[in-house]
Amino acid sequence: MELARRDLILSAAALSLASSTRGFAAGDRPLGYAIVGLGNYGLGRIIPEFANCRHSRLAAVVSGDRAKAEKVAAEHNLPAGSIYNYRDFDRIRDNPAVDIVYVCLPNAMHAEYTIRAAQAGKHVLCEKPMAVSVAECEAMIAACRKADRKLMIGYRCHFEPYNLEAMRLAKSGAAGKIRYIRSEHGFTASDPTMWRLKRALSGGGSLMDMGVYSLQAARYMTGEEPVAVTARESTDRRDPRFTDVEDMIDWTLEFPSGAIGSCQSSYSANHNHILLMGDKGRIELEPATGYAGQRMWVGNGREREVTPPPGPAKTQFAGQLDHLAQCVATGRTPIVSGEEGLRDMRIIEAIYRSARENRTIRLDGRA
Ligand code: NAD
Repeated sequence: MELARRDLILSAAALSLASSTRGFAAGDRPLGYAIVGLGNYGLGRIIPEFANCRHSRLAAVVSGDRAKAEKVAAEHNLPAGSIYNYRDFDRIRDNPAVDIVYVCLPNAMHAEYTIRAAQAGKHVLCEKPMAVSVAECEAMIAACRKADRKLMIGYRCHFEPYNLEAMRLAKSGAAGKIRYIRSEHGFTASDPTMWRLKRALSGGGSLMDMGVYSLQAARYMTGEEPVAVTARESTDRRDPRFTDVEDMIDWTLEFPSGAIGSCQSSYSANHNHILLMGDKGRIELEPATGYAGQRMWVGNGREREVTPPPGPAKTQFAGQLDHLAQCVATGRTPIVSGEEGLRDMRIIEAIYRSARENRTIRLDGRA
């Protein structure tokens, strides 16, 4: 059942990416995004990407820093009425230029702004991790469903050509029967004051941040849903960075086919790697999920480097923005919907529980 569902998701991804090359019918306007949170990602990475989009444009900004918001608005020719702060955000309901709200805030604020956006009648693109608990994810999905709005999670790797090609190759049997996947993601958290190290804002440590890439990769590369997880945390609590959240956590996923996922996340080592082993060979990506610069090898080692065909979108970020715009315009469900974020959050909660209780946690309801 799950395999069939993942197949559908992959073919929906291919279909939707192919259709994004065709564009809207004449007369359709690009849909307007409001970016909430003008930080490194929202301002530094996403806003410049509207220049690469065909179906999306910047329509508003939401920030606690008025001067910064005015500067961004001026640079992008936005009218003064397109600037909001966190208190008057709900006024966005009266702005017809905004179709979609993109939540680029610290993790613990994702649920609140997703729900407020849906209640204001806007569709939502929410950054990863979807939220900080299963309960929050469920409330976000319910709010978007009640308002009849779409909800997509910022899983940009589903629009990135190397990851898409790796998924296609794995599914086509290029490595044979999948036996094992390793996926490690981390960076060195050098600033002890960053919100990522404060549980009240992050919901957790490296797992909530880089661990999402490791977990996602294990699921989209195998095309399976794990049935059990066993996790172990390793954190030096004397390190002032890690008084509140975990540093390193590794977890083993058991898949129905018998394949094993060995995943890791860290805030004290830089790594970005996916290795899938089958009974006939391997598919390896390193760096695997960065903003750019991916490399991939297919075969028995690193002898054969593979370059995928370019994707239909100029970049993974533009592909992601345009995908949701097209889903809104055509009534389709995003390939990385709120339900996909919820699936990850259920596993994340099980990973933390396994590490805490020092035992395997079943994910399939079996004792
Ligand atoms: P950041 O710290 O650079 O930006 C956060 C923004 O939120 C800032 O503009 C800040 O002013 C604002 N903010 C509002 N209230 C705040 C509060 N109480 N405390 C702290 N900041 C507050 O963070 P970022 O790197 O832009 O991350 C934002 C979100 O984007 C996170 O959920 C993160 O996981 C996600 N992200 C995703 C990717 C990706 O590749 N998909 C990459 C980076 C970040």
